[in-house]
Amino acid sequence: MVYKAAVENLSSNYLNAQIDLLNQCYARTNSDTTNMRSIFQSRVGSSKVRFILDQVIRVSTTLTSFDASSTSGFANSDIVKQTGSGGSDAISPDSKLNVWICDLTKDGSNTLIGYAYPPAGAPNWTAGSQAPTPAFDGVVIDYMDIGGPLKQPVGYSSGFRGKALVHEIGHYLGLRHIWGDDGGACQGQAGFKDDGLSDTPVAGDYSNFDCNKTKNSCVETSGDLLDMVENYMDYSSATCQNSFTKMQISAMEYVLDNIRVNVHIPLGVSMTETVSKKIELYPNPVSDILYMQIENIEYEKVHLAISNTLGQSIFSTVHRKSLSPLEINTHNFAKGIYFINVQIDDLPVISKKIILQ
Ligand SMILES: [Zn+2]
Repeated sequence: MVYKAAVENLSSNYLNAQIDLLNQCYARTNSDTTNMRSIFQSRVGSSKVRFILDQVIRVSTTLTSFDASSTSGFANSDIVKQTGSGGSDAISPDSKLNVWICDLTKDGSNTLIGYAYPPAGAPNWTAGSQAPTPAFDGVVIDYMDIGGPLKQPVGYSSGFRGKALVHEIGHYLGLRHIWGDDGGACQGQAGFKDDGLSDTPVAGDYSNFDCNKTKNSCVETSGDLLDMVENYMDYSSATCQNSFTKMQISAMEYVLDNIRVNVHIPLGVSMTETVSKKIELYPNPVSDILYMQIENIEYEKVHLAISNTLGQSIFSTVHRKSLSPLEINTHNFAKGIYFINVQIDDLPVISKKIILQ
């Protein structure tokens, strides 16, 4: 989060709503998938990709905006990725997806919502499309587009409702726009390009940020289909974007398995294990004050429940702020073994054993 005005410094409410939305959209559990037209139902699917908010870094800057001008491409915007230039350096870009949230559009001369670099060697991209340096790998996105259906920044009006980040992470995981960025060409025409995936209908050009479900920008010679405005990788309105196709999902999972291999938690390591490693209770055994340290998670609330070995709950509390370490006074508890059950926001409940002596 690189902010100048206080309104740009989004609370963790928005960040957690965004993570929720990412997980819904990538799992295809978002409620608006019911809007998908039946002609495309057999083509769309759910991915195994999930997101955890690992760390939030908040940097106050004196720079007004991070524009990508038409002459410099993203070079100006990459300033946000440099602490020395008023931005914030990437954290471990080889193993973490860095997302820079900043004011990209405020000066009115720029309509950039966000951008991302595909990985080096991603299929269907031309050589050299990757970040100019690994330190610039990740996603930059305007603060106004972070959130979810339930959490909208003040003044929010674009209607993207957090789906811009779904789109940008699609690029980060190697997806192209469904019209192939060819400026309007269809099959057989000069300059025609495709996204390289055969289950996204051929489209000549992007949807104009609308939801036109009768648009057919390229007539295919056989099996012609309308443009798929429901696809996250179109430039359609977020109000109709609700799915990735199965081949888009395979393409993203290929990138995670073969190119961005360090970015993901391999299947078999559960979300519970990952969250558990972030919660530390000490000292253990304890005889006085028990401390709970939560590493690198910003949250709205943490629910803490202590139960005995019979499973009886003996203490329960909710902390509403990121106060760390939390202190738990154990004076009134009898000596013995207890289980501390911790739930941070909507993350899995973590159970840890402590000994009171
Ligand atoms: Zn895009």
